[in-house]
Amino acid sequence: MAQGCVYLVGAGPGDPDLLTVKALRLIQGAEVVVFDRLVSDEILDLIPTGTTRIYAGKALNRHAMPQDEINALLLNLARAGRRVVRLKGGDPFTFGRGSEEAEHLARHHVRFEVVPGITAAAGCSAYAGIPLTHRGLATGVRYVTGHLRDNNELDHDWARLVDGDTTLVCYMGLVTLPEIVRGLLNAGLDPATPAAVVQNGTTPRQRHVLATVATLADRVAEAGLKSPATIIIGKVVALADTLNWFVPGEADEQEIRRLG
Ligand code: SAH
Repeated sequence: MAQGCVYLVGAGPGDPDLLTVKALRLIQGAEVVVFDRLVSDEILDLIPTGTTRIYAGKALNRHAMPQDEINALLLNLARAGRRVVRLKGGDPFTFGRGSEEAEHLARHHVRFEVVPGITAAAGCSAYAGIPLTHRGLATGVRYVTGHLRDNNELDHDWARLVDGDTTLVCYMGLVTLPEIVRGLLNAGLDPATPAAVVQNGTTPRQRHVLATVATLADRVAEAGLKSPATIIIGKVVALADTLNWFVPGEADEQEIRRLG
């Protein structure tokens, strides 16, 4: 049987309207979809009924399927001639381990394609009214992980992350938020720097907290924000008050009005 192909597809942060046309086309034409925990239900609903779905998601400290099993699964499905969509939250090459899966396939000479998706930083910032760069406020942006290393330490060189002209976006940082804030403040970040945490960005369940770096951890704890959440730190966060356009839930209401 001819060898199949694995499409490593970014599903974006949640809003199905943020899928690329290519992602949607591939999802609709796949024989098997192997998906992650962060792929939203609204997007899973777009998978045709006859398509095989395999959940490979991971929750914190609870690996549904170890990475080498996912790698082996993709390889075997492709070798069996299947058209496989490996659907990942956000962008497959941004903190998504898509590159590890691609490496594995490349090593075994299995064909693959990578379909970029809207990463959480882009989705959350847009839907919270926070531009990641803005003339006079930020000349660049930096994505970092807040996930602990195997040694249970956050391995950042904090001094290198402190830069008043660069927006800092932290993925997987909700649990370690107090450490992140402490690291940045100890390294000299201005405590009055505006900061935000966006939960369930781009979905009807989006919630966010706006604060300063000094008050962020307390405000987030008070609000009871949960994962998935993205932290955005920098002067650009101050624009959220003016640019905040998204009213969670409203999209659904508009849809109902249009249909009604
Ligand atoms: N590949 C993904 C990131 C996976 S790591 C991407 O490009 O977006 C998982 C982290 O992504 C979460 O801990 C959170 O920080 C962020 N994230 C993903 N979806 C999110 C969402 N809808 N809202 C807020 N943060 C999100």
